[in-house]
Amino acid sequence: ETITVQELAARMSERGADVIKTLMRMGVMATINQVIDPDTAELVVTEMGHRPKRVAEGDVEIGLADTTDAEGTQIARPPVVTIMGHVDHGKTSLLDALRATDVAAHEAGGITQHIGAYQVTLPSGQKITFLDTPGHEAFTAMRARGAKVTDIVVLVVAGDDGVMPQTKEAIAHAKAAGVPIIVAINKMDKPGADASRVQNELLREEIQVEQLGGDVQSIEVSATKRMNLDKLEEAILLQAEVLELRANPDRLADGVVVEAKLDPGRGSVATVLVQRGTLKVGDVLVAGAVWGRVRRLVDDRGQAVESAGPAFPVEILGLAGTPQAGDEFHVVDSEARAREIADFRARRDRQAELARSAGGRGTLEEMMKGIREGTAKELPVLIKADVQGSAEALAGAISRLSTDKVAARVVYSGVGGISEADITLAKASGALIIGFNVRANPQAREIAKRDKVDIRYYSIIYKVTEDIQSLMVGLLEPTY
Ligand code: GDP
Repeated sequence: ETITVQELAARMSERGADVIKTLMRMGVMATINQVIDPDTAELVVTEMGHRPKRVAEGDVEIGLADTTDAEGTQIARPPVVTIMGHVDHGKTSLLDALRATDVAAHEAGGITQHIGAYQVTLPSGQKITFLDTPGHEAFTAMRARGAKVTDIVVLVVAGDDGVMPQTKEAIAHAKAAGVPIIVAINKMDKPGADASRVQNELLREEIQVEQLGGDVQSIEVSATKRMNLDKLEEAILLQAEVLELRANPDRLADGVVVEAKLDPGRGSVATVLVQRGTLKVGDVLVAGAVWGRVRRLVDDRGQAVESAGPAFPVEILGLAGTPQAGDEFHVVDSEARAREIADFRARRDRQAELARSAGGRGTLEEMMKGIREGTAKELPVLIKADVQGSAEALAGAISRLSTDKVAARVVYSGVGGISEADITLAKASGALIIGFNVRANPQAREIAKRDKVDIRYYSIIYKVTEDIQSLMVGLLEPTY
């Protein structure tokens, strides 16, 4: 028995476009009316966070009760925070300083372990989880794999330096992911620090802080002097309250791999963040194309724990291989089932790899098709130009091309050559890159080719708008 994409979407109460996107991520190109085989359907169901239930061999039935956690079952969970900002603005210092505010650390003893994430308990008993890989590479790498882990971005800006290129990049990343920002103006202990100058610079990036009448919280801190860290944490909790972060702890766990490595002494070790349910020692799980039975769970202080609930970061020992950061994991009911899914994914990954090396076409072409068929509604564009004036002129011109059918959305515009970071951002937001009088560096070209990110070079503005217009009506073929 087979099922159409549309039918599958309906059974999961998901949008058809999202099912198609999930399929694309799995390397399967399908339209809404296309029939897909049961194995693929089952994978899609799992990938989208539902639990598949095959009633008969080949048929896929989705247990809806399991996917939409009933009202009363969800309880508040801690927010998950990523710290981003320009190099040397104090991301690492702030992560260390915030970690030291943990009141639970003193009780339990144990030694700080860097497992990719940590949790602090505040004097009030409330908790915050921080991903402790600063910078946006980790953030986008995960997003590029489809994982949404971060609830809130803390944007660190040094009060004596102001908004810098990576500050702008971080803003673009957070916006592209739809994650709210809290501004931490750091190094306020320094004589040259000027918070209002920073806030005004942020205004130019369309970040309007509360002090200037906007709704973005902005806190003046000093990581090294440990100043106002409590205020920053309060701001995070306030934002979390607005977001109404909730999860059902009483179900089989699923979540995302934050970090994974092969440890010479302990074998494969993966740090995961549970997003729903509770992960327990003895559980059988699949993470990406890897499966295993949880032999041991270790927290961020090196202590063995029996279970981990929502937003609680733990290391898992006992996996048969090393998954990748950004892979989703699901607890399943048997080893046979886990092995089956892992095998399927390994096969699928190999096929996708083959398709890539055979020169298969990727994201942009699909998007063009989507636009032609009326399923895609926007064309995301990333602009790099040689001078600020051109970048701004292009961003304006491109935005104005939006019609009621397709919107041209500028995810980022900046000055300078096309870098690896640009490719990562473009990939994560499905954008095409416009290089105006600038080129991509060799590494960036390499990644763009691998990830099928379309880069187009121009030196005349109207040529850009002409091409974008053609792309918007689905007429141009991508160039890789
Ligand atoms: P990162 O690159 O963003 O992770 O920045 P770091 O945390 O490595 O900090 C860069 C430099 O700024 C280091 O020398 C820190 O000691 C210093 N620094 C960080 N925070 C503060 C602060 O609040 N005040 C002062 N005076 N220096 C700071």
